[in-house]
Amino acid sequence: VALEDFRRMGYQMVDSICDYYSSLPHQRVRPDVQPGFLRGQIPPCPPEQPESFDEIIRDVHDKLMPGVTHWQSPSFFAYFPSNASFPAALADMWSSALSMIGFSWAASPVSTELEMAMMDWLAELCGLPASFRCNGGSGPGGGVIQGTASEAAVVALLAARARALRGKSPGDKLKLVAYASDQAHSCFRKACMVVGIDHVRSLPTREEDNWELRPEVLQTAIFADLCAGLIPCFVMATIGTTSSCAVDPVGKLADVATCNDCWLHVDAAYAGSAALLPEQRVIHFQGLDHVDSYSFNPHKWLLTTFDCCALWVADSGPLKEALSLTPVFLRATGNALDYKDWQIPLGRRFRSLKLYFVLRMYGSEKLRSYLRHHIALAQVFAAAVDSDPRFELAAPQRFGLVCFRLRDVPCKVNEALLEEINASGRLFLIHTELGGRFTLRLAVGSATTQLEHVEAAWKEIRIAASGVLQRFGL
Ligand code: PLP
Repeated sequence: VALEDFRRMGYQMVDSICDYYSSLPHQRVRPDVQPGFLRGQIPPCPPEQPESFDEIIRDVHDKLMPGVTHWQSPSFFAYFPSNASFPAALADMWSSALSMIGFSWAASPVSTELEMAMMDWLAELCGLPASFRCNGGSGPGGGVIQGTASEAAVVALLAARARALRGKSPGDKLKLVAYASDQAHSCFRKACMVVGIDHVRSLPTREEDNWELRPEVLQTAIFADLCAGLIPCFVMATIGTTSSCAVDPVGKLADVATCNDCWLHVDAAYAGSAALLPEQRVIHFQGLDHVDSYSFNPHKWLLTTFDCCALWVADSGPLKEALSLTPVFLRATGNALDYKDWQIPLGRRFRSLKLYFVLRMYGSEKLRSYLRHHIALAQVFAAAVDSDPRFELAAPQRFGLVCFRLRDVPCKVNEALLEEINASGRLFLIHTELGGRFTLRLAVGSATTQLEHVEAAWKEIRIAASGVLQRFGL
């Protein structure tokens, strides 16, 4: 493909993306297709000869787009958001164009240096402890961009294991124990599977504690394991659980973890963006100065197109102990910091560039009002739910998430309500289970969501509820 062809196709591509964004409010949020819909539309093997760009673009529109779930739709209220933005997309174009693999400082100096700077910018913006700053790689702490919160959890667990095994015998590996609440994301269990931690404790939470992990529950579990001759080594707390945005008491859990020589990792995958807001910080982000590692995903709610998970450690020593390996062909001198020692793969993309674009093109003030706007919309929705006697809030409204359900009905009625809501295609929600009860979740956070979309969603939900209640004779 010649340079001038790329220029022409690039403009054409931007035009078609702009048309797509204009059409978004009118699209079904979720596609109306069945598994296997693409089979038969795509040839079984790749073409021997080049095909034209125009032909490919036509197929994208005709064959692929019908299978797209529109995560950027203003009426996408499912899961947690995955914000795209034009600044991040533009930066990603440059990143693709450069396609440099910045595993070490020497491999492409700007890759390492911009990442250190952006992680410090983000730490500053979120009011994170000074111990997390890269300080030009002089240590001991610092930040690194991982692909996802799941990768961050694996990396944190590897560091925890390395620290716990210092001075111990290899057989002690089998005695290590990891702890999190039963509300923690499944990435906790996955990390234990990957790292090979067999003793995994999913600690109980209660509705009356708003699904938070109580420190005394953690202490009791650790004590029982110590009595059994095991080695407690890792605790994962969550700020903003996936089900209900519960916030574990990080400071108190840190006290328990520290007393018992456990590494404390805090997963704030979605809610972490809210730390930009001082008013949220004082309520939900206390105690971080006593944790070993902390991560959140700017790709969820901070307009930094997937993938971008920010992970900080207070001391990178154990991380490097776990992951540092330098074959002869990668040896170089004078490095400030080699990010290959802070992650599992060797290769890494230039992801800090999109943070650089996002943080500069929006500015902190705009980012803060963006987050406040979503939280305010969630509050509007929660107030509407609260004012309809047929419904109840299933958990305190936090950040952009509202958990709700029809009151005093069997789970199958709420299940039918969700099916009815999603069948229209005009909005998309998912459910969770809280205390064994089917609960609907509405997560506000799409970049284009406005009051009108939340009001329209509530109207749809009320109408669907009337139909469902009638159908069940309630
Ligand atoms: N932790 C929490 C609290 C989440 O809500 C999620 C996903 O929504 C994850 C972890 C997993 O995120 P990732 O896809 O970045 O691994």
